[in-house]
Order: sequence, then C-alpha cells, then structure tokens
Amino acid sequence: MTQANFWETKSLQEMNDKEWESLCDGCGRCCLVKLQDEDSNKVCLTNVACKLLDLETGRCSDYANRLEAVPMCMNLRTDLPVMINYLPEFCAYRLLYEGKPLEGWHPLLSSIADSTQDAGVSVSEFAVSESAVHPEQIQDHIIETLTDGY
Ligand code: SF4
Repeated sequence: MTQANFWETKSLQEMNDKEWESLCDGCGRCCLVKLQDEDSNKVCLTNVACKLLDLETGRCSDYANRLEAVPMCMNLRTDLPVMINYLPEFCAYRLLYEGKPLEGWHPLLSSIADSTQDAGVSVSEFAVSESAVHPEQIQDHIIETLTDGY
C-alpha cells in the first residue's frame, strides 16, 4: 500500500510551512523583474533576476528576510490569487491552485534535486542579476509581455 502525496490530499491552505515550501521547484521565474508600462498598463517580463536570487540554485539567498529586503517581493502564501497569472504555467503553486497535477519532473516526484535544471525551466539558463544591471537599462532586458500572464 502506498502513502498518498500531501499535495494530492491537502488543499494549499491546509499545508504546513514545510509542505508549502517544498512545492517551490526553484525555477526562479517569479524572481524576474517585471516592468509595467504607465500608459498601457502592460506588464513586461525581463531576464533580470532579483538581487537576492542565487542564479545557480534558483533559490533566494535571504528567504527569511526577503519581504523586508525587497518590498516588491510577492508573498505567495497570502497573495497567490492576485499573482497567479504572473507565475509560469508549470509552477506547482499555480498548477495546484488550478486543480492540475504537478509536472513529472518536479523534485517532489523525481526525488532529484537538480530536476528543475534538467527540465530546462530554470532562470539560471538565461537570467542576469539585478546587481549587475544599471536601473536605467533594465528595460533593455525585456523578454516577454505578460499582459495576460505567462
Ligand atoms: S515560479 Fe513557482 S516554482 Fe518557480 S521559483 Fe517561483 S514559486 Fe518557485
């Protein structure tokens, strides 16, 4: 008899902190800087990653203090419904919120720590750190328009 996976039996609200945090695959996509056009309100995604993102691991380098250090950082635990369209379609939080199963490569299913990198969805493939880009040049790094989300 096999034990059911917690993400298949619990709602997002029912998960404890450890379970919740383990859903993040470390792709780093939500840590990419977004710009909003003042006239059109269009939201554009850049390949510039938050200064706190470790580009190698795809993890925040100061997760516990991130909301104080970066006021624009999103708290998915409280803001998921508002931010849902700005998460990639493969993000575990978005998938579960939409009633869909996790991707087969997700570390919780593959039991391989690097499976996000292997799946080719990590920002480490293409992102540059915010700390290496002049603020006035961030708009030169736009890679996608996110008017309707990812
Ligand atoms: S987009 Fe989702 S899976 Fe990727 S880093 Fe953000 S919360 Fe984690």
